Amino acid sequence: MLYQRSSQLFADAEKVIPGGVNSPVRAFKGVGGTPIFVKSAKGAYLYDEDGNKLIDYINSWGPMILGHAHQPVVDAITERAQLGTSFGMPTELETKIAELAISMVPNIDKIRFVNSGTEACMSAIRLARGFTKRDKIIKFSGCYHGHSDSFLIAAGSGLSTFGVPNSPGVTQGTAKDTLLANYNDLESVSALFEANKNEIAAIIVEPVAGNMGCVPPLNGFLEGLRQLCSDNNALLIFDEVMTGFRLAKGGVQELYNIKADIVCFGKVIGGGLPVGAFAARNEIMNYLAPIGPVYQAGTLSGNPLAMAAGLSMLQSLNNDAEIFQRLEDKTAYLEAGIRRVLTNNNVVFTVNRVGSMISVHFDAEPVIDFQTAKNGDNESFKKFFHGLLNEGVYIAPSAYETWFITDALSYEDLDFTINAIKKVTKDF
Ligand code: PMP
Repeated sequence: MLYQRSSQLFADAEKVIPGGVNSPVRAFKGVGGTPIFVKSAKGAYLYDEDGNKLIDYINSWGPMILGHAHQPVVDAITERAQLGTSFGMPTELETKIAELAISMVPNIDKIRFVNSGTEACMSAIRLARGFTKRDKIIKFSGCYHGHSDSFLIAAGSGLSTFGVPNSPGVTQGTAKDTLLANYNDLESVSALFEANKNEIAAIIVEPVAGNMGCVPPLNGFLEGLRQLCSDNNALLIFDEVMTGFRLAKGGVQELYNIKADIVCFGKVIGGGLPVGAFAARNEIMNYLAPIGPVYQAGTLSGNPLAMAAGLSMLQSLNNDAEIFQRLEDKTAYLEAGIRRVLTNNNVVFTVNRVGSMISVHFDAEPVIDFQTAKNGDNESFKKFFHGLLNEGVYIAPSAYETWFITDALSYEDLDFTINAIKKVTKDF
């Protein structure tokens, strides 16, 4: 495949945008080569500026559960745009999408809309700190909760007590309130509670991790977090920016029957427009301004175009009784195909999957946390990525990302993908 025009567009972009991109992972730093510039997308496919057609497994990093340019969503945006694009005043739409989201997700009474997953998580920990009157939070190495300062904290080795900022610009003052634990390791969490008695406001966790590949919670992990939070009067925050409305109507709370105190959403809830949200029971949500003391705001929050797109998306998911089963079936089919061809080609690999989130790791050991995710062979991943791209299959340009399966994928698309994987890994 040729990427002449993409290369030119990237060179142009580099002159006026840092690194040529508005979000770092798009720059192909992990895999090398030139980023592909998209012209359009429909259903399961991307069409790039050079006229290549690619099967898309990123799907805007998750939200396109029903495929690109899903007609009801496009119609909702188009119709709404005629009526004005932003008011900074309340609209009925906001109540409608709030009512629907609350009816779909367990354990939430109220929801507030923001503009991104970052804002949702940032606001959720401020709320948790205000509600509990405590400063510290626990996060897990390898979990991503957006780019606000409190979350840009690197893993120390093992039971790291204090976080170390891993981006210049994040102060030690902020970092010291973020405690790091290891995913799927309850002992690392209870040790932090032990060492910081009555100081921890909340645990924030990706209840199915999607930012170190797809890493499912081991049996008892989420239950253990719930128990530790309840025992220590801390709040449990589920960051469902990837998993919400994807793994089940009610997200991971429904899938594994675990109650979170605050839930963060993003991506899906805007049908591809810039939306995030956080939600909780009344007791917690009533702590927010203007009725409570914790401040949180946004000129474009609840933006009518974004709400119209999100409402249409949630309605499509809510009205389709089979959607999550279809996604499960398609992804299970893909998983079986990947296992078959990689085994036949004698490739050393691990595949992780929960519902329609799946990742391939070039390592034989189970991938259960950030350390084991990092053990994967990155050179193999690069070859895999570029090989698939050349076959017309677009996966995330990083070994630490999950693939997102969309309902727009046909079984022919999946067979095409499995066959491409067979071809690409022949000489691994
Ligand atoms: N939380 C999780 C679990 C995410 O995957 C992401 C983004 N990939 C975010 C938060 C941040 O969302 P956004 O990029 O919309 O700010």
